[in-house]
Amino acid sequence: MPLNDHITTFGQEMLSRYGERIHKLSIHAGFTCPNRDGSKGVGGCTFCNNSSFSPNARSHAPISDQIASGRSVLAKRTGAKKFIAYFQAYTNTYDNPEHLRQLYDEALAIPDVIGLSIGTRPDCVPDPVLEILAQYRERGFEVWLELGLQSSHDQTLERVNRGHTFAEYCQAVARVHRYQLQLCTHLIVGLPGEGVEENITSLERVLEQGVEGLKLHPLHVVKGTQLANSWRQEEYQPWSLKGYISTVADMVERTPPEVIYHRLTGTASNDILLAPQWCQWKWRVLNGIEQELKQRGSIQGIKT
Ligand code: SF4
Repeated sequence: MPLNDHITTFGQEMLSRYGERIHKLSIHAGFTCPNRDGSKGVGGCTFCNNSSFSPNARSHAPISDQIASGRSVLAKRTGAKKFIAYFQAYTNTYDNPEHLRQLYDEALAIPDVIGLSIGTRPDCVPDPVLEILAQYRERGFEVWLELGLQSSHDQTLERVNRGHTFAEYCQAVARVHRYQLQLCTHLIVGLPGEGVEENITSLERVLEQGVEGLKLHPLHVVKGTQLANSWRQEEYQPWSLKGYISTVADMVERTPPEVIYHRLTGTASNDILLAPQWCQWKWRVLNGIEQELKQRGSIQGIKT
């Protein structure tokens, strides 16, 4: 049984909505982040090195060039002909609304770009930006807002220097849904001080607030981060592949089937990844999750 038979995946959901494969194309639009430029904090989250985002998101070329190069790679690899412009690097709502509109318009003007996915923080989604995104939705574009929450535990959020609380996330979610936007929340599995129970609690709290999509990610230790220093000093112990797979399976079982998994793991490039080494093997992780669910005779939502 393929992964899609156990889990509601983004790829499968887009295929059934549009009748063909739809892929996200990562874009670096030159933003910064309030947790780096001093308005919320400096230094950013303890695990963040933005080079760990998709390779295509590293260059800050014009948006049309980034989409052109990304689409030719994806078209060759997957046969995809239609795309969602994924504003991924840093905080993609952190600018004045009119400039944001220009950038989003630029992406949507490209033929075969059918929508937007906007990555941002819970404390950075003012109403005028949500209004712009709602207008795209009303025009028939596929629009997602991706909120990095990572954990629902304030103690952890403080420990990793996120610069926002779970209460701020809840307030943001209420406003995002007022604008009828689809929300995809990001959670990290393996944050310092957290175990299986904390991850499941975070999932349950996120589901309670209402969410249309989820992204799960193992915590990567990458070069140039505070987390890398903690790892070198053996203050942080990365999770095993087995522990990650089992926890993700536990979370999937507790997720209602209508919630779409945009991602179940994440990779970092070899030149910056320090640990755990297994997270560079995306397919090994995904196959492991599939096998785990198969062995359990389980599917998404079985424990809801
Ligand atoms: S992870 Fe996101 S919020 Fe944290 S510092 Fe990096 S860009 Fe900013």
